[in-house]
Amino acid sequence: MAAKPNIRSLSQEELSSFFTERGEPAFRAKQVHQWLWQKHVRSFDEMSNVAKPLRAFLESHFELLHLNPKTVQKSSDGTVKSALSLHDGKVVESVLIPKGKRMTACISSQVGCSLDCSFCATARLKMARNLMPDEIYDQVVEVGRQAQGHFQTPLTNIVFMGMGEPLLNYKNVISAIERITHPEGLGMSPRRITLSTSGIAKMIWNMGEDGVRFRLALSLHAATDEKRSRLMSINDSNSLDMLSDAVAGFYQATGNRITYEYVLLRDFNDSDDDARALERFCRRVPCRVNLIEYNPIEGGEFKASSSARTNEFIGILERAGVRVSLRRSRGKDIDAACGQLANKP
Ligand code: SAH
Repeated sequence: MAAKPNIRSLSQEELSSFFTERGEPAFRAKQVHQWLWQKHVRSFDEMSNVAKPLRAFLESHFELLHLNPKTVQKSSDGTVKSALSLHDGKVVESVLIPKGKRMTACISSQVGCSLDCSFCATARLKMARNLMPDEIYDQVVEVGRQAQGHFQTPLTNIVFMGMGEPLLNYKNVISAIERITHPEGLGMSPRRITLSTSGIAKMIWNMGEDGVRFRLALSLHAATDEKRSRLMSINDSNSLDMLSDAVAGFYQATGNRITYEYVLLRDFNDSDDDARALERFCRRVPCRVNLIEYNPIEGGEFKASSSARTNEFIGILERAGVRVSLRRSRGKDIDAACGQLANKP
């Protein structure tokens, strides 16, 4: 028997036509849509305002999949990491990062990652598969539950900085963001969503052409091709010039200021010269720099920069008029920090 389709792979229009073609009134699709995307039911039987025979009919036609929380770990700094099992037994990780009034969900876009950035633990995992739009959406729902449960606060921000490269799963990520921002989904503002990419120039151009309204962060980490290629082999085919052009195009198309992420690695990319190269790179497009404390990974070759060096680095950028912030590591004790997501229990 052929596998039943996942009911949540249908667009709102497809769901509507499914019902109207069967002579159901138009509001039926709306009700079912609400159960699927706002009330987060795990079975058709929970759809209490839908007649039983129709529930049974849906059940016989469709699969209704959901994520199963496998483990939840809470860090001493309040960060909560969830390992979530997918319907095929694969596992992704999502993180809740509380900071003052801000509740940020850090979401994965793929199971594993196909890139091989030398400082990232996720790179050690094999790329297993892309996540589907509903699996991306459900991570937000799950992390939102954690935010309510632990802090009685709703999510305020979403960052695509978990496992995977979101621009290599572009279609599904965009479809998930559409649902997340839609009033009949989670109704979040796109201004509060940031997609972080290792830098795939062609896709950054595409995002500009698509007129996306969420924010873009580019994992830069070095401002010369020679150094950046040593960290990230994706730079061999997406050079800094190509990225700079793409980011300028993105800014022109969307008016969105871009964030450059830069992990400070001791004696590798944290010298005065490195700071000046970064400053030059920043001149072209309105941007801000997010310096990231390096989180050591098992068997990793790098060390974090000292705080004195970090401050000097910040000073050079600030004196040149670059807007810069330092992102301190969160959830390190439970391997929940940037670059540490590797399905370790
Ligand atoms: N693939 C996307 C999103 C995932 S990584 C990207 O590359 O942007 C999210 C951020 O964490 C990126 O800026 C990444 O470079 C950074 N990161 C990876 N490993 C890290 C580590 N060990 N310490 C600190 N930041 C790390």
